[in-house]
Amino acid sequence: MTIFSKIIKGEIPCYKIAEDDNFFAFLDINPLAKGHTLVIPKIEEDYLFNLDDETLAGMIVFSKKVALAIGKTITCNRVGLTVIGLEVPHAHIHLIPITRESDMNFGNAKLKLDKEEMAEIARKIQLAFSI
Ligand code: AMP
Repeated sequence: MTIFSKIIKGEIPCYKIAEDDNFFAFLDINPLAKGHTLVIPKIEEDYLFNLDDETLAGMIVFSKKVALAIGKTITCNRVGLTVIGLEVPHAHIHLIPITRESDMNFGNAKLKLDKEEMAEIARKIQLAFSI
């Protein structure tokens, strides 16, 4: 089982944003920006582009809802979307609040946020998602 499947099952803690029957969103533990979020399918598939069309399309629509909630919560110009997937073998979309192109650079230093701040960010995005 992947680490992300364990997160979905609640066996590993996360800063949860939202879930539905097919998808789950939570804060990236090493964020490039406050509000950096991962969206994953509940089915286990390593490579995003091996997902069936319906799941991939649904994942983009779910990501849109999460991105709009991030945009309402975190000050930014846009929410950027990217896919890398070299580290964790469970398909995931990165949603990152950005003000400039270089904010999407994964070579940038990651933020060090304490647990309380991560929980507070997640709570606010969760709230924006639900309304
Ligand atoms: P990549 O597979 O290259 O897209 O990178 C995987 C991403 O997952 C990285 O940005 C990690 O910080 C993030 N990540 C890995 N483990 C966890 C975890 N347990 N909770 C939240 N994010 C994680």
